[in-house]
Amino acid sequence: MPELRKDPVIDRWVIIATERAKRPSEYQTSVEEKRSGPGCVFCPGNEEKTPPEVFAYRNENTKPDTPGWSVRVFPNKFPALVPNGQARVEQKGIYTVMEGVGAHEVLVETPDHSVLLQHLDIPDLERVVRAFRQRYLALSRENKYVLIFKNHGAKAGASLEHPHCQIIATPLVPKAVTEELQGSKKHHAAQGRCVYCDMVRSEVDASIRVVFDSDQFISFCPYASIFPFETWIVPKQHANDFGDITEEQVTGLAEAIRETLSSLERTIGDAPYNLVLHTSPPKDEESKEHYHWHIEITPRLTTIAGFELGTSYFINPTPPEIAAEALGRSLEGRGVH
Ligand SMILES: [Zn+2]
Ligand SMILES: [Zn+2]
Ligand SMILES: [Zn+2]
Repeated sequence: MPELRKDPVIDRWVIIATERAKRPSEYQTSVEEKRSGPGCVFCPGNEEKTPPEVFAYRNENTKPDTPGWSVRVFPNKFPALVPNGQARVEQKGIYTVMEGVGAHEVLVETPDHSVLLQHLDIPDLERVVRAFRQRYLALSRENKYVLIFKNHGAKAGASLEHPHCQIIATPLVPKAVTEELQGSKKHHAAQGRCVYCDMVRSEVDASIRVVFDSDQFISFCPYASIFPFETWIVPKQHANDFGDITEEQVTGLAEAIRETLSSLERTIGDAPYNLVLHTSPPKDEESKEHYHWHIEITPRLTTIAGFELGTSYFINPTPPEIAAEALGRSLEGRGVH
């Protein structure tokens, strides 16, 4: 069973993932991204090589764990956290440990091995977003937090090439989210407004960091981007909980994801990136007024090195205004505004 260990000095937990345990010698060979067709366990026809599916959009009259799906979700074979059990906290001398209770799922975005997420048609992308919502709602019933994320490219942590996202449900609200909850609460207390709504208004007005703008969503390179070409997708309508996304917004988000990732691709190529969906904890009444869900996309063009590890400060060599201008230009070229 995996466990969460708390740093005895600072408020930081680490997952010691026993199910993914690596022998020390395994680190010697560099991790190669597994490409390929027939051997790919996420490809149609290889369903029996993954744990049984927990959710799928599939053609009528096709059975679970057979081909005929368009989106397929199953538990990760090597989970960082596992269901069952109580997330009991235990004191072991000076140390604090918690059982690694949660869930870890894989969401395969398309049966097509070699396509990129942004190349999917809008109806296919809508199904991906609906699957996010379905798994989020299902897992949020028994867990404190549900994080949906995507690692694209070996440098961003993807070990398989086939387009997929991961969903990890945790017994704690993650530190990164807690910081956002606290910061947005402070802004709300001082200004009486949601800081994310303020950012949306300010970015639309200034327009120098906007990448994509529609009735429902805006994407922009945030003012204090920590990575070059970091881009956030934010719904224009205030809502703290991703679980409340409407059908209309599902379409809007599908479009925003496609346009944002496409402009990144046209500008920096098929670069490795991480995408994370930040939402409030499920059904969190406390943050209803001040928190606002969003997606953060961080291309991994630079590496986290000594300074970042030593300070938690980042050095970003590309101002977000320059990044947004390049990304925006790539959209204009296609007549999208
Ligand atoms: Zn595949
Ligand atoms: Zn808001
Ligand atoms: Zn965030």
